[in-house]
Amino acid sequence: MASNLTIRPLNTGFIPTKPLQYHFHFSAEPYLRDVPDEKIPLPDYAFLVEGGDRLVLVDTGMSWTERANEYHHPGSWQDEGQDIESMLKSVGYSCDDIDIVILTHLHWDHSYYLEKFNNSRVLVHRREYEFAQHPIPLYYKSYEDPALGLEAPYKGNTHIEPVEGDELEVIPGVRILETFGHSPGHVSVEVDCADGRNYICAGDSLFDLRNLDPIPELHYDIIPPGRFADVVATWNSVRKQKARVEERHQILPAHDKTLPDRLAENPIIGGTDGTTSSDRR
Ligand SMILES: [Zn+2]
Repeated sequence: MASNLTIRPLNTGFIPTKPLQYHFHFSAEPYLRDVPDEKIPLPDYAFLVEGGDRLVLVDTGMSWTERANEYHHPGSWQDEGQDIESMLKSVGYSCDDIDIVILTHLHWDHSYYLEKFNNSRVLVHRREYEFAQHPIPLYYKSYEDPALGLEAPYKGNTHIEPVEGDELEVIPGVRILETFGHSPGHVSVEVDCADGRNYICAGDSLFDLRNLDPIPELHYDIIPPGRFADVVATWNSVRKQKARVEERHQILPAHDKTLPDRLAENPIIGGTDGTTSSDRR
């Protein structure tokens, strides 16, 4: 069946991280000599899925600068007009227009400003929702645990519907994939786009498309990211997504540093105008 679905990435700010430590498992370091070990600012994308019978938003992005700086990654910033409400407005929508929000996970940089989505169903994997109620202290910051005197936007949100199951269809052509590992109940969102390809909004299940590379010397079929709650699940999630696409640019990590350049050419992914960077490559 022909699809009209397209994906519009919306950048909600920048978070500096050290690529070598954060994006790749330390065991792969000898094979990644060109990857920088100093902090570089990474974008933080939410993804708007347009053209379906419901308007779907994958993640709501990060907080304002002061909150990000003080409690999360120092040096992070959200420019004026980069909060999710303003970003939606810049492309002609209000938060009230969003029918369904799917949160890949409940970390602070993917679920901020959730209280603005009062007309939306908010889908979160049950495992993630339950873990977020009582995270281990290592993750108190990520989930803005009350132990830190904070109240995360998802806390007490009455629109949240915990969901379970792999390949759960949300609307025709949009499926939730279980991609556990980065966090206990992390999910990705697969979209069958108008150009006939499937794209995967991959959240933090991988950080860089090089996570899809093999390292034959180590017998690695992928390179796992450096941050995870469960490395076995992480490995299988990267492997699983790699197997679902013909080429790597169909996978859209939330912090992909190559996306800004790609979007400068065309802000919409998966359209039929023949000018998407994936078609051109
Ligand atoms: Zn995360």
